[in-house]
Amino acid sequence: MLEIIQIPVLTDNYIYLLHDSVSGDTAVVDPALAQPVLDVLTEKSWQLTTILNTHHHWDHVGANLELKQKTGCKVIAGQLDAERIPGLDQGVFEGDIISLGEHEATVIETPGHTSGHVVYYFAKDEALFCGDTLFAMGCGRLFEGTAEQMWSSLQKLKVLPASTRVYCTHEYTQANGRFALSIEPDNLQIQQRMIEVVALRLANKPTVPSTIGEEKATNPFFREGSSCLQKKLGLENQAPVSVFTVLRKLKDSF
Ligand code: ZN
Ligand code: FE
Repeated sequence: MLEIIQIPVLTDNYIYLLHDSVSGDTAVVDPALAQPVLDVLTEKSWQLTTILNTHHHWDHVGANLELKQKTGCKVIAGQLDAERIPGLDQGVFEGDIISLGEHEATVIETPGHTSGHVVYYFAKDEALFCGDTLFAMGCGRLFEGTAEQMWSSLQKLKVLPASTRVYCTHEYTQANGRFALSIEPDNLQIQQRMIEVVALRLANKPTVPSTIGEEKATNPFFREGSSCLQKKLGLENQAPVSVFTVLRKLKDSF
């Protein structure tokens, strides 16, 4: 089994530690800070072997150099982001396979939030580490890409099995849910999910991970093809990518 530990840091970031008990291999996804990672490593007596970065933003690579220096781990990130990833050892492309003991992740390129953004999909473990591309009930802002690129990137994630757990990097679910409700106020699944999300946040608990199935039912950026949603926006029979573009603009000023 792939053990996954979720570490909340900064205002709303999550760092993920992944551990394969057979080989002892341990990876960290998007380490913003070093100390919280080092603390868990010490507590668990794990040796960090790999850093997996999804993109170059500081809140995803901030601890690369310190962790590399203190543990000797190797740094993996999208080759298209190579110049902007501190300590990069291995640049990866679409379809590359990353191994953590016997656990394998496929690299999926998802430009849009940044031009070199990648996500890591552990098919057998049903886990997707998607950085700032897909969020619970939302998606990343377009800093370096077009709406078309982000839409294409999200299509690659939408087709993953419904049971796939979505480990995104930010706890944005409640704000995203308010937007989702503003778009589809009558969607019972969004209403129900928001009740759960509000309760979890009141208890200071994470709403992440969700699943691809939940996102297909409640995430407006996965529902751009739905005739209900299109009708609500007055965009009936428009191409899904055009609806997505409108949604992303609406969310930017929500
Ligand atoms: Zn980012
Ligand atoms: Fe971020």
